[in-house]
Formats: sequence, structure tokens, C-alpha cells
Amino acid sequence: MKKMFINGEWMEASSKETRDIINPYNQEVIATATEGNEVDVKLAIAAAREAFDQAEWPSIPAIRRGKIVHGIADLIERDHAELAELESLDTGKTVEESRGDMDDIAGVFRYFAEMADKDGGEMIDSPIPNSTSRVVHEPVGVCGQITPWNYPLLQASWKLAPALAAGNTLVMKPSEITPLTSVKIFELMEEAGVPPGVVNLVLGSGARVGAELSANDDVDLISFTGGIETGKKIMQAASSNVKILALELGGKNPNIVFADAAFDTAVDQAMNAVFFHAGQICSAGTRLIVEESIHDDFINALVDRVKKIKLGSGFDKSTQMGPLISEEQLNKVSNYVETGKQEGATVAVGGGRPDDPELQNGFFYLPTVLTNCTTEMRVVQDEGFGPVITVEKFTTEEEAVRLANDSIYGLSGGVFTNDIAKAERCVRKMRMGTVWINDVNLYFPQAPWGGYKQSGIGRELGKTGLEEYQETKHIFQNLKPEPVNWF
Ligand code: NAD
Repeated sequence: MKKMFINGEWMEASSKETRDIINPYNQEVIATATEGNEVDVKLAIAAAREAFDQAEWPSIPAIRRGKIVHGIADLIERDHAELAELESLDTGKTVEESRGDMDDIAGVFRYFAEMADKDGGEMIDSPIPNSTSRVVHEPVGVCGQITPWNYPLLQASWKLAPALAAGNTLVMKPSEITPLTSVKIFELMEEAGVPPGVVNLVLGSGARVGAELSANDDVDLISFTGGIETGKKIMQAASSNVKILALELGGKNPNIVFADAAFDTAVDQAMNAVFFHAGQICSAGTRLIVEESIHDDFINALVDRVKKIKLGSGFDKSTQMGPLISEEQLNKVSNYVETGKQEGATVAVGGGRPDDPELQNGFFYLPTVLTNCTTEMRVVQDEGFGPVITVEKFTTEEEAVRLANDSIYGLSGGVFTNDIAKAERCVRKMRMGTVWINDVNLYFPQAPWGGYKQSGIGRELGKTGLEEYQETKHIFQNLKPEPVNWF
């Protein structure tokens, strides 16, 4: 039984309800999790509130907080193999991918651990005679953190590490379908010596636990990663007490390929952009925008390679792509492709479930390339969140950029070209939080991550990732106090 962690204790939900956790590769039950509700989340918020207000954690020297956060990174490295396997079991992604995730996650804790004591505030040149003026940063308070199922522990680490380093207390609600590595990281945080009440974990549904966490007046900040519609609900709920809001929402990310790009590299990266973790990546390059003069050759080369992608268990070394996360997601992706077909897209490869009898119990969908797509199609505008790439053509640089920007989203995008001036012109006009030149899907703790437009509000990672968890205070001191005699 996977339990919740509230005020330093592992406990079952007050209702005693449970939820089965399913392996997406074969639908076997891999764990049972306690299913919390509003009662449990209120308990967790009260614990986090008390831990913040009694001020031990926010006021200990930042260097000590940094050491504890480093300690969490040490434990992640110690349990790296176990964590990677748990993540693969829960999400279906290949163990190799999960190992990469765990390296990134340890790196995120290290990065924010290092930053914990580096912010000594800043003196301002005060325009008022005989005074000092300085700016300090302080923790925000109690943070609610809600994470999705696609990168369960990675997304959690982007929230936990900066919140802790900055001296906040928190309540996390992981996705109800992938809680395993989140439970484990709370065990590691306990082992690393995070004091009781500082970090709290509540398992359960978005509609009950997530909604209460977003609305509760004792929560000062809500940080959410997930879908756009949920993000809008959270934004509304968070308005009850004007919470600080950080939203990492979806993406429909263009990848522009110019005729002068290194052809084989661009084909290879077009696949990496969209087929890692079966396309269930917020920054997946799902919109391929190819210069007309190379379009047909490019698609032929892409389709040849896509046909060879090996689907299977994430635990099989030869597997290149695992299943989708759930039956719901499988239906969503199938319907999405059907919509594309009705709109006039051509299925160049894929477009259905695999025939392989061994894959029938898993939520597998074939890697799919849809050609003859145009920007106004739903299949080009909506986030499918599966292994599906749509292809559009362009003839001029301006047209490529215009197509790329024609979206409600603005998370990430790529440009492939050997003309560096052209690349620079394009990426500066692309309305996205991250743009890659001759690469895809790269992120690291030092660089900020987040979206323009409806892809979100705020930035995780980097310096801004810590600042999201800090309030800014101006301290002014009069060095020569005397009556002003205005009145
Ligand atoms: P989701 O929005 O369905 O769920 C995300 C989380 O929100 C889950 O924990 C869920 O239980 C919770 N939730 C659901 N309803 C809620 C409510 N009313 N109030 C509060 N919480 C609620 O998203 P998902 O299907 O788990 O994840 C996929 C989505 O996440 C995609 O849209 C993807 O693009 C996005 N995503 C974005 C980023 C990014 O960095 N921008 C990263 C990963 C995933």
C-alpha cells in the first residue's frame, strides 16, 4: 500500500479508499495507493502552514537547507536504479529513458541546493539622502504543487528542489495514475532530514485533492504542471485568496526544417522530437514544418525510419518506444488521428494500434506521420499527446515563422538550417519559451523552462525557477530620522 506523508508520518487516507496503479504495458496492477480526499489535504495544508509559521525551516541558515537538498540528490544517486525501474513500471517508458530522467532529477536537486545560500540580497543606490535601501528575497510560504503523469518525478523535482532551497513548506499532489516515484522521493526527503511538516504528500484525484489544494486559503502559491483546461480551473480556484500562480501547461511545438539543413540529422531529430516517451512530452515537436523543395524526400526518409521503431516493454533493451499511459490516453490519441483523417490528412505511416499479439494488453499506438496537413486543422492545433507528427509545407522564411506561431500555445520550437543568420532571425520571431537551433527537446537545470501564450505562466528551472518560490522585499532605512514637519 502506497501511503501519504503528512506532518512527518506515513498514513492511509481518512476514508480508507484505495486506487489500483496499473502497468500500461500489460494492465497488471503493480501497486495499490491510498486515495486521499479534501479531509487529508486539509490536514497536510495545516501541517505545512504550521511548519512555515513556526519558522524553523524558513529561518535556518540557507547553507543548511542547501546541505539537506544536496543530501536528497545523494540519495537519488544511491537509489538511481530502483527509481528508474519504478518510473518505467509506472509510465511504460523505457528504462534507459528513465535512467536519463533520474540523472536530470539528481542534477536539479544539486543545482537548487547550490543556489540556496547564494542570494544575499542586493543593495540599491537610494535616491533619498542618509538612507540605505536593499532588496531581500524570502520564501513565499505554503506551496501547493500538482504534477502530471508523463514525467512524474522529473516534474516533481522542478517544484520540490527550488521550493525547499528557498525555505518554503509544501504539499504535493502527484498524478493519481503515476504516484510511485513521488512516494519514493518523499521517503528520501524524510531520510535526508527534511523536518516534519515541511514536505507533505497527498495522493488522490485532481477533482478532490487538487481542487482543494488550489482553492485553500492557507496555501500561498500553487504550482501546476498539466493540461490547459485543468490549468484554467486552477487559475480560477487560486483566485480565492490571490495565490501566486505558476502554470506549466501544454504545447503544440513546431519544428521548422529548411532545405539547407543537414538532412539526415534533421530527419533523425524530427523523430527524437516526437517519439520519445511515445510523444507524451509537453515539448514534443509534433508539428513538422518542412520547406517544400525537400518535403517529399524528407517524408520518404522519415517514414522509412519510423517503420523500424520497435515497440515493446520498457524493460526490454531493444524497445525504442513504450505504450501510452492509459486506455483514456489511447482513445484520445486514436480519436485525434481519426479527426485528422476526416479533415483530409494522409496517414503516411502508423495511424492505428500495432498488430503484434504481444502488445495487445498494453496501451500501444503506432508511431504515426500525418501529411497534407494545414494549420487550420484541429489535428495541427490540438495537443494530441501521443506519437503523432503532422507535416506542413512552406516556401519562404516568413511563411515558416508565421505557421510556427499560428497556435494558442508557445512552449517550445525548433529550427533546422545551416544558415545561422536565418536561424537567429527565425528564433527571435518565434513566440515560445524555449527554441532550439539544430536540436530538439533539450533542457537542463541552469536554463529556464516555461511557455509563452497559453502554455503557461512563469518559469521553472534556472534562476527564475528559484525566484518563483520567493517573495521580494524592499527594506528602506532612514539613517538620520528626524521630524518632517509636513503637517
Ligand atoms: P492533467 O491536467 O489531466 O492533470 C495534471 C494534474 O492535475 C494531475 O495531478 C491531476 O490529478 C490534477 N488535476 C486534475 N483536475 C484538477 C483540478 N480540477 N484541480 C486541481 N488539480 C487537478 O494533465 P495530465 O494528463 O496529467 O498531463 C498531461 C498534460 O500535462 C499535457 O497537456 C502536457 O502538455 C502537460 N505538461 C506540461 C509540461 C510543461 O512543462 N509545460 C510538462 C509536462 C506535462
